[in-house]
Amino acid sequence: MTNTTLRSIAQLRDAGLVPAEQTAALDKVAARYVVAITPAIAQLIDRDDPNDPIARQFIPDPAELAWQPNEQADPIGDDAFSPAEGIVHRYPDRVLLKLIYACPVYCRFCFRREMVGPGGRRSLTADKREAAYRYISQHPEIWEVIVTGGDPLLLPPSLLGDVVGRLAAVDHVKIVRLHTRMPAVAPERITAELVEALRAPGVTTYVALHANHPRELSPAARAACARIVDAGIPMLSQTVLLRGVNDDVDTLSALMRAFVECRIKPYYLHHPDLAPGTGHLRSSIAAGQDLMRQMRGRVSGLCQPTYVLDIPGGAGKVPIGPNYISATADGAGHAYEVRTINGGLHAYPPRR
Ligand code: SF4
Repeated sequence: MTNTTLRSIAQLRDAGLVPAEQTAALDKVAARYVVAITPAIAQLIDRDDPNDPIARQFIPDPAELAWQPNEQADPIGDDAFSPAEGIVHRYPDRVLLKLIYACPVYCRFCFRREMVGPGGRRSLTADKREAAYRYISQHPEIWEVIVTGGDPLLLPPSLLGDVVGRLAAVDHVKIVRLHTRMPAVAPERITAELVEALRAPGVTTYVALHANHPRELSPAARAACARIVDAGIPMLSQTVLLRGVNDDVDTLSALMRAFVECRIKPYYLHHPDLAPGTGHLRSSIAAGQDLMRQMRGRVSGLCQPTYVLDIPGGAGKVPIGPNYISATADGAGHAYEVRTINGGLHAYPPRR
């Protein structure tokens, strides 16, 4: 088993992850969209399963070069809300701080796939970081800073500690939330030094783990998450609904339960964004709502994420889960019809 990150189709072929006859076609995909598969992820892939849900997330597919007309390079419209390089200020009380455009793995469905990787945008320089801190300190309405990218946990712990410390020094910033795939895709990098770098007096740190299949919560990943939570850092999850990966109720339920077992509160289930060349991985909103309905009936409330859509163009994120209640005409506007998790209909308040 390999102990280095695989970064080319030839390396994937040598590791038994792609057949030799596909290398020419996949080289074309890799020339357009960067590839990286860590040892932990390579180990999780079942080489005997042509539809392996881990492989589907990380191994290039010729379908990535079949772009659909409604797909966009910046599908959620970050750039329209960027007052300073690395900052996205879309909602009043929080900003994104994008420090780095590199990741330990490259997901084939990534919504920032045109920006991440060696051919993408450059990580923030020290000067640009100063400008970002200045923007944050000059906007007292900013209560939360979401550190994202790329994957911020790729930064050296000393630099990450400096970033968290600088944000903590801003009086009105109370929450620093870091979005990462690292505990699942490279659990060995969640060292005591890195965990220590995530905390600073004056601010509460949250870590949001991106994982899409229960197998990603391997024993090593669970131990890495425990190191974070044991340090007093609460964790949240985010998952992308992906066709052939987690779009069935058993898999999605197992994933959400695995999060909760790891003391990670399920937070978002994202409907996949309209990123270029990702149509083969998208399922429909109707299918997503149906999954959420089935989950509500059979899995603990602790395990329920909010199903959300980022409206293309930058209009923001909205919940799109199934609706259980609708108003009925009673003349006064106080009557509702409520649907149970099993589909039964009830009046609220009950009719006499
Ligand atoms: S880790 Fe996040 S930013 Fe990086 S490739 Fe995957 S989805 Fe994109």
